Amino acid sequence: MSTVMVAKKVKRKWENLPGKNTFCCDGRVMMARQKGVFYLTLFLIVGTCALFFAFECPYLAVNLSPAIPAVGAVLFLFVVAMLFRTSFSDPGVLPRALPEEATFIEMEIEAANGNVPPGQRPPPRIRNVQINNQIVKLKYCYTCKIFRPPRASHCSICDNCVERFDHHCPWVGNCVGKRNYRYFYLFTLSLSLLTIFIFAFDIVHMVMRSVDSGFVGLTGFHTYLISLNQTTNEDIKGSWSGKNRVQNPYSHRNFMKNCCEVLCGPVHPSVLDRRGLMLEGLPGSTNPTAALTHVSKSKNPEAQPTKTKAEHGPDDDVKPDVSTSTTDISGLEKSPSSSEPEMLPSPQDLPPEPPRDNTDCAPGKEDTY
Ligand SMILES: [Zn+2]
Ligand SMILES: [Zn+2]
Repeated sequence: MSTVMVAKKVKRKWENLPGKNTFCCDGRVMMARQKGVFYLTLFLIVGTCALFFAFECPYLAVNLSPAIPAVGAVLFLFVVAMLFRTSFSDPGVLPRALPEEATFIEMEIEAANGNVPPGQRPPPRIRNVQINNQIVKLKYCYTCKIFRPPRASHCSICDNCVERFDHHCPWVGNCVGKRNYRYFYLFTLSLSLLTIFIFAFDIVHMVMRSVDSGFVGLTGFHTYLISLNQTTNEDIKGSWSGKNRVQNPYSHRNFMKNCCEVLCGPVHPSVLDRRGLMLEGLPGSTNPTAALTHVSKSKNPEAQPTKTKAEHGPDDDVKPDVSTSTTDISGLEKSPSSSEPEMLPSPQDLPPEPPRDNTDCAPGKEDTY
């Protein structure tokens, strides 16, 4: 009797496993077949962390603490490790019955149910087991040809029965079951911590940068100005600083009223009339202030025209003619510090002109007003 040596190719069991899983690294890694969302998850985590480490961490490490990038790196590595552990592991897939085992089980079921007359529905294939004094039903899986253990379920995407089936998670690209549930939980927990960590230090970074650039200081300064209803120009010149008993006549002496007037008051129409029509060649038509003629007739008190500096001399813009005024303009007098070379405010920034007598209009000024 001669022995015939037949060369047989040795295969790993994973190569013949039914179901819709994919395997790599010679069966060490198994995943679901649909992996697109898993790559998206990985891209979002890695991309967000890369931006954080590239643009936030250098500043935070120098100006706050070098522990921030270190803690961030540890959290990031832990998140990725838990994701890979969840995605690449066997969630608890139950092997299908071999053909002979399936035949034996079928025979057992038929024997238990008896002969079912043709045309009648066979009874459901169920077995009962007792767990902690509770009856638990085991269902028969027609795909895997087995009675599923308690809490197992058949995943339609992976086409396998999975022990203690939780759900199929496309974000991790795998079923979540008995063998990888704890890693899935640690992944979600650490990802939440990493998100909070990055978001919190994003805000810290933004605030520190704002303070460095003076942006917050500028906002605070203008909040102070609005609360007093005064301008930067008036604040720098000390127009209403209380010297010589000069008080700010525009302030309502109430923080809320001042804020409401500055921020919520009506936006006044432009007195420039940039798009007004004019005829070239007519006397006075080239004078840009001619457009003010009709605006001065409007009922809007804020649109009252004011004299130009050339017509009234260098100081007339903040010092109206007291002798011709009939209103209380005590607060409009020029402050002592205004003797310095001053910035000429635009017409909108000037105090409202008091009513003027007709005698104030010298001959020859009628074209302007
Ligand atoms: Zn199954
Ligand atoms: Zn699945």
